Amino acid sequence: MGEPRSAPARWVEVGDGVLVRRYDELDLSLGLVLGRDACLVIDTGGDAGQGAEWAAAVRSVTANPWRVLLTHAHFDHSFGTAAFLPCPVLSHPGCRAELVADGETQRTEWVRQYRVEGKPEIADRIAATRLVLPDSMLSGRTELDLGGRTVVLDSFGLGHTDHDVVAHVPDADVVFVGDLVENGAPPAFDGSYPATWPAALSSVLDLTGPATTVVPGHGDPVDRSFVAAQRADIVAVGILCAAVLTGDIGEDDALRRSPFPGDTTRAALRALAERDRKP
Ligand SMILES: [Zn+2]
Repeated sequence: MGEPRSAPARWVEVGDGVLVRRYDELDLSLGLVLGRDACLVIDTGGDAGQGAEWAAAVRSVTANPWRVLLTHAHFDHSFGTAAFLPCPVLSHPGCRAELVADGETQRTEWVRQYRVEGKPEIADRIAATRLVLPDSMLSGRTELDLGGRTVVLDSFGLGHTDHDVVAHVPDADVVFVGDLVENGAPPAFDGSYPATWPAALSSVLDLTGPATTVVPGHGDPVDRSFVAAQRADIVAVGILCAAVLTGDIGEDDALRRSPFPGDTTRAALRALAERDRKP
């Protein structure tokens, strides 16, 4: 499966037996929840090499059987799965559908992108990666028993994608939220649903208390006030973009008033125009 990627990775413990592996590349955060009898691996990294490094890192912590959860279908979360097989691979049905429809397009685009960025070794690894489709479809709220610990998986409607899955570890007061939240970079709006994303984050906030750790798909773990602030920013950009689409304000005005950089606001505008027009 190729050599582990050279970019360094490190563990962050966010609760008793709840770990996050942080990667420099894309500032990615992958999750591991340890139970007495089994463990849950949350997302698999962006290529076969990163997946192999991640699987070896998990094995350095636990010998228990694993299940994999894909929070969504984007390559950086789902392309590393082969290193974990054979095992159950859980996702929302929409994740599998998107990998079927769009997986090879993602591969082509990111191979090109990494070559443009002067990172041919990552491009080569993505090009050589065997895409794996999830095989265990989640339908609604699902409780996973890992032995002495339950992880609750749920989906909260259209947000970063149409198939985001959140993993809640109630006894540790930790919530893994995929790219519904990003820390250190603006949320990624390409292909998103800006009008309903805030409602999904309200459901995330319903799982949190003052001491909850929220693990975003990118960046360091955050708390509920960070999520609330990012939700407010997404509401604000949604209102601005809706006003552009109705002709009430110009795009320049929206870009100037947006809480996010221009590229992010333009992506939100595209997403809203394509998918849903209600703020
Ligand atoms: Zn991501």
